[in-house]
Amino acid sequence: MATAILGLQWGDEGKGKITHVLAKEADMVVRFNGGANAGHTVIDRGVKFGTHLIPAGAFFPGTVSVLAGGMVIDLAVLREELDQISAHVKTPPQIVIAENAHLTLPYHRVVEELEGAAKHFGTTRRGIAPTYRDRAAKVGVRAGDLLRPSHLEAQVERRLDQLRGLWPKSEEIGGMNAGDLRRELLELAEPFLEGICDASEAIERALADGMEVLFEGAQGALLDVDHGTYPYVTSSSTTFAGLGNSIGIPSPDVSRRIGVMKAYTTRVGEGPFPTEMADDLAESIRTIGGEFGVTTGRPRRCGWLDLVAMRHAIRINGANEIALTKLDVLDGVEEIRVCRAYVLDGDEIARFPLSADVLDACEPVYETLPGWEGGMEGARLEDLPQEAIEYVRWIEAELGVPVTIVSYGPKPEETIHRAL
Ligand code: GDP
Repeated sequence: MATAILGLQWGDEGKGKITHVLAKEADMVVRFNGGANAGHTVIDRGVKFGTHLIPAGAFFPGTVSVLAGGMVIDLAVLREELDQISAHVKTPPQIVIAENAHLTLPYHRVVEELEGAAKHFGTTRRGIAPTYRDRAAKVGVRAGDLLRPSHLEAQVERRLDQLRGLWPKSEEIGGMNAGDLRRELLELAEPFLEGICDASEAIERALADGMEVLFEGAQGALLDVDHGTYPYVTSSSTTFAGLGNSIGIPSPDVSRRIGVMKAYTTRVGEGPFPTEMADDLAESIRTIGGEFGVTTGRPRRCGWLDLVAMRHAIRINGANEIALTKLDVLDGVEEIRVCRAYVLDGDEIARFPLSADVLDACEPVYETLPGWEGGMEGARLEDLPQEAIEYVRWIEAELGVPVTIVSYGPKPEETIHRAL
């Protein structure tokens, strides 16, 4: 059986925790989009990890971790993660890398800085947009090129040549050399070379053999390059539709499509955010919820749950289950607000506008629900405070999708699994 874990908001929903909790039972875990801009927090046997590229399957013996074709991979980051996780687990992770996944090279970060894009869109400065742009412009370097070193060097040389022409004053680019980069890349890639292959075939085989396959999404639906709040989006397809393209399987049979959402909303960087909270409450949620970026350390903006955005995110993902996370962070909040519609130009609308400037003009219409006093523990929804139970039931009734997982703390055991 296959399951997909998909972020429904602007990322940081707690996908890392949910994937890790479910990965225990999986034979294969596949990351299908983005690159080292993701930061998934995983607590494995009491030790906290911020993983950027390695799927959560790497923590479990016998689980294959796949980096699919739709990803962009920074080998320096991947190697560091492999070394960290290998020092923690007994069995070294088994990593498969799609030969058509693109590589983020040192010059991509330099180009991002030179363009000032990081400043404008508040990106993670991991060279992600320049890597995806090189992919689209057909000047990228792919994982499969690592298996043919002279071809790899020629590809890098060709792109460096172009970049020297575009940025003649950049000493960093001027100082880069294709031969050195080739050596550096091959050294970093050494433990991964055997696993570079047509990952699409490997995934197809696993699905056909009835294995437990888990697809781990990065970022969130509202950051999808096509269906998010463009231009304040990431450079990849973050939704279920993008999954099929990334893995090279047209309509993968994924029966569980779990949309992960927090009990409130956060957003990092620029862009419209209709339900953003007033400063003092946002500050307290940020502190209690630890809302600081895993990759950048930036404080996240905090807001109320937005059902207009969630209906859109559920629809474009075909999500048939919800994992509701960070419910504990609302402990002690007297009244909880939830946005159920927007007002745009004096009219109430239920549709999520796809243009950032239109979304920016929307005013939220709130429903207010009673909060609860702190303290959550237990394995069943019924163990939680009554108002928290009602909040969960209200959300599922409004969205028409069952909340099958409730997370009330960062640790794996702070999780409630509900039957469908
Ligand atoms: P991801 O990128 O979607 O995996 O999310 P992040 O790892 O960036 O952010 C989620 C943060 O919330 C991490 O620090 C997690 O350890 C933490 N977390 C996850 N679930 C819960 C929860 O239910 N309650 C609390 N308090 N923290 C959680």
